[in-house]
Amino acid sequence: MSLKGKTAVITGSNSGIGLGIARELAKTGAHVVLNSFTDRDEDHALADEIAKETGVTARYIKADMSKGDECRDLIAQAGACDVLINNAGVQNVDPIENFPVEKWDAIIAINMSSAFHTTAAALPVMRASGWGRVINIASAHGLTASPFKSAYVAAKHGVVGMTKVVALETAEEPITANAICPGYVLTPLVETQIPDTMKEYDMDRETVIRDVLLARQPSKEFATVEQLGGTCAFLCSDAAAQITGTTISVDGGWTAL
Ligand code: NAD
Repeated sequence: MSLKGKTAVITGSNSGIGLGIARELAKTGAHVVLNSFTDRDEDHALADEIAKETGVTARYIKADMSKGDECRDLIAQAGACDVLINNAGVQNVDPIENFPVEKWDAIIAINMSSAFHTTAAALPVMRASGWGRVINIASAHGLTASPFKSAYVAAKHGVVGMTKVVALETAEEPITANAICPGYVLTPLVETQIPDTMKEYDMDRETVIRDVLLARQPSKEFATVEQLGGTCAFLCSDAAAQITGTTISVDGGWTAL
């Protein structure tokens, strides 16, 4: 499949899943816009590296996804947006009665409200070009829950709900909106949870991965960023033109349990 000439904007894409998706979409010919709130030399270097490897135009644009106006400005600065991947996300784990209010607000803003703002800004651009794909990176936690992740589970369920609304509002147009629900993927977001869990349960790394992180992932394997990039590419293909308003789980069987 080819996305030659199309532009994909991927929020939160200087690391992990977002970066993996950007690399896979660039391989199919899409120009890519990388984003984070950091604006470091390394962020721009990642875009340069993708451009060099694939021959597409790759740019880095700084925007803080916790701020609605910056979300909208990201789309304006991108200039084109045929494929919007709402991927930026953060996590915090605490019982609800101790859950820090500022963490709740940040998770709801970055993991959910950012997708509202970018989608609102991107749909007119997609309509003007006559084609579009909105792909929200939700989570198995957009379909199921775990204790101590109130904000994350609420935000991801919200993203799944908003995906359905966007699909209905664009149903008669050549635009689709879907959510991908990954199980565990070994990215910095997950890697940082391993040392604390090793300490908490007095376990070695392998046991934490198998018995704690992958306890609910029947395949006992992490999904990979390349597989998520491939799923995005599929949702951009003609084969997926009638897939809209739904979720695709990439979770090793988690939600079959
Ligand atoms: P990660 O920590 O590697 O990447 C998170 C990305 O979000 C980074 O690029 C970071 O710069 C960006 N980001 C964070 N705050 C931001 C802000 N305020 N403004 C702009 N960008 C910001 O994590 P990841 O595992 O690659 O997660 C990516 C997405 O996938 C998240 O939405 C996450 O919830 C979801 N997800 C991850 C897993 C997993 O197991 N890793 C599973 C299911 C869903």
